Amino acid sequence: KQILITGGTGFIGTHLSEILMRDGHYITIVTRSPEAHKNEEAKNQKFIPWDDLTSVMGSIDVVINMAGENLFGQRWTPEVKEKLYNSRILTTRKLVDAIRASVSKPEVFISTSGVNYYKDSGDDVITEESEPGDDFLANLCIDWEKEAELASDLGVRVVIARFGIVLEKNGGVIDKMRLPFKLFVGGPVGSGDQYMPWIHMEDLCHILIYAMENEELEGALNACSPEPVTMDEFADTLGDVMNRPSFFRVPEFVLDIVLGEAAVPVTGSLRVQPKVLQKSGFEFEYDDLGTALADIM
Ligand code: NDP
Repeated sequence: KQILITGGTGFIGTHLSEILMRDGHYITIVTRSPEAHKNEEAKNQKFIPWDDLTSVMGSIDVVINMAGENLFGQRWTPEVKEKLYNSRILTTRKLVDAIRASVSKPEVFISTSGVNYYKDSGDDVITEESEPGDDFLANLCIDWEKEAELASDLGVRVVIARFGIVLEKNGGVIDKMRLPFKLFVGGPVGSGDQYMPWIHMEDLCHILIYAMENEELEGALNACSPEPVTMDEFADTLGDVMNRPSFFRVPEFVLDIVLGEAAVPVTGSLRVQPKVLQKSGFEFEYDDLGTALADIM
């Protein structure tokens, strides 16, 4: 198939593109800097600027939308918030506009969202039908999803994948946690009782491919493992896998001082279940955190 990916140069996009190319698909990556990737171009992979979207859309079968400024590592000042918001909402709008302008439409439009769509719910189990939250990140996800859903008015099947925290060797949260644990200062963040939904990179890529191939899937699905753990369990498991104890805690008030509102994604509790995927028969390779981390570390 001809697959167009936004955010295809990023942490997840790079992995996904590799798998898709291995499977024999043709990948078009939309990027702000196509020149920087010229040397990576291959027979079945090319990089195009956003301005070329409309001209290529007619030949695309599948759109996977993952572009967005990185949410972590900076305080959410009003300027940063605007960047986080616009880099998702305006890019998604551009994509849908290009689909609208194209005579021949893609079969499916898979768009990213995050589990932070949901309200902090303590120990209660969250499924796709659960209530959305009302903080900055929840509202960002709500608006992001709304923009993507507009493609369904154009007759395109839309799947919204609400990603959990993605675990993989190089990059993402594991890179940030590896060093403190090595130095014996790693430990849970925040209260420790909060649930954090996670997903192994391999499973996440398989979910996206499953959503692409499975015509019955439509609407929102939780892209996270069926066994979310609390932050304490996560730190303990990571400590075990790395053979390091995990008794140092980063207290919530320190996080608040350092990150302000940006601490919400790690201090809120989201016991998310991938109900839609489970019901449709998707099989996770890494449903247990110990196995996932052992593979990654
Ligand atoms: P990365 O930060 O690694 O990559 C994001 C990509 O988005 C980049 O390759 C970049 O492409 C593009 N991008 C960044 N800023 C802009 C902008 N202002 N305008 C247009 N494009 C931009 O992200 P991940 O791969 O980790 O995540 C992909 C998506 O999944 C993100 O939207 C993220 O919010 C979401 N997500 C990720 C999770 C995770 O654990 N990693 C968890 C939940 C959701 P280029 O520079 O080539 O233009």
